[in-house]
Amino acid sequence: MHKDLRSCIELLKSADRLITVKKQVDPRFEVPALMRAAEKAGKAVLFENVSKPGFRIINNILSSREVLALLFETSPEKVVNEWIDRVKNPIPPELVSSGPVKDIVRKGSEVNLNDLPIVTHCSKDAGPFVTAGCVVAKDLDTGIRNVSINRMQLKDRDKLGIRMMPPQHLGLIHEKWEKRGKNLEVAVAIGAHPFELMAATTPVAYGVDEFGIAGSLRREPLKVVKCETVDLEVPAAAEIILEGEVLAGVREPEGPFGDFMQYYVPVMDNHVFKVKAVTHRKDPIYQTIQASSLEDTYLLALSREAKIHEAVSKAAEVHAISLAPTILACAISIKKRFEGEPKNAAAAAFGVYPWLKYCVVVDHDVNVFDMNDVWWAMATRSRPDKGLLLIPHALGFPRDPFEIHQSKLGIDATAPLNQWEEFERKTVPGADLIRLEDYLLP
Ligand code: MN
Repeated sequence: MHKDLRSCIELLKSADRLITVKKQVDPRFEVPALMRAAEKAGKAVLFENVSKPGFRIINNILSSREVLALLFETSPEKVVNEWIDRVKNPIPPELVSSGPVKDIVRKGSEVNLNDLPIVTHCSKDAGPFVTAGCVVAKDLDTGIRNVSINRMQLKDRDKLGIRMMPPQHLGLIHEKWEKRGKNLEVAVAIGAHPFELMAATTPVAYGVDEFGIAGSLRREPLKVVKCETVDLEVPAAAEIILEGEVLAGVREPEGPFGDFMQYYVPVMDNHVFKVKAVTHRKDPIYQTIQASSLEDTYLLALSREAKIHEAVSKAAEVHAISLAPTILACAISIKKRFEGEPKNAAAAAFGVYPWLKYCVVVDHDVNVFDMNDVWWAMATRSRPDKGLLLIPHALGFPRDPFEIHQSKLGIDATAPLNQWEEFERKTVPGADLIRLEDYLLP
């Protein structure tokens, strides 16, 4: 079966990782409040009865490292290796004549974005924002496709504000079209398989088609169909497609919006997207993601963990790596071979991923997916007098008026070399297997 959002939801259901909400819910604040609860429960949530009739809402598909393991058919610590292995061979998409995303087609005056259950996420947000849309566009000269995720603020029945800025590829593409006085054709796919979303957020060189990466993750070509009103192709089994143009020479205030660091980005003059057509499946599922949620982190983390893994593996023997719960700090476990090696490992990580601010290097007996365990290693194994690698005045996260992100710290939280008798962690025999429930009945 071709992988799409619905097959992914079925997979989560069969693994008991889906909550279904049948009570009617409001996309303004009520849905995101329940999304928080689903995040705490570590499950995806499907809202079946939304106050915008005709649509369902899905959130928190990527609720945990275990879900990534399910999608990649491997164990949680090996997901990153599986990623590295799969993306070596991009598979171009396959054009098909039609697909379920064409079940309903609305054009021109039939378009009304107010019918969509676009979620208002945070108290000071300027309004409803589309947060999980894969934006498809093409370079004006080469025709090479780009896919990215950009936030979009609902402004009118056929109008969205859209945030894009060079050096982000979509911003570069728009700049080219705009310089020649042309509106940029775009199509936005909402409700795709997570592999498409992950591909769209993978940092790659300009000119690499992210749908080819999606194909490599799928291990089969992504099926795409032609749009109705623009010269673009979109996933044939997506839930909803918005087609239209980003206007040349037009900017309007957009924001504020509660972003990935949990802070509001201020009002900025951003681009305007005029929607000319909406197509969708029958009984469509609108996908939304809360910026700064664990789902947001897992979406962005894997491709960046892979980059770090490949670089650090040239300096040390990497066991596992985690960029959660933010993508600004990572924990790496290694099999240490030399004293000092953890600092080299941290330096390698900083070298390939500029947004990385903290890198904690631990031994392979520490679970990097458990922050309590990482803190335990920091508290019991690191030496602040000689285990720190401070890099001042480095390149970091760009939007940074207070220069909080332009320096880096590596922390060696590994035990002294060849001292395992002193640093062996105590164990309780059978503790991993014993079940308390079995002892509750007489
Ligand atoms: Mn790109």
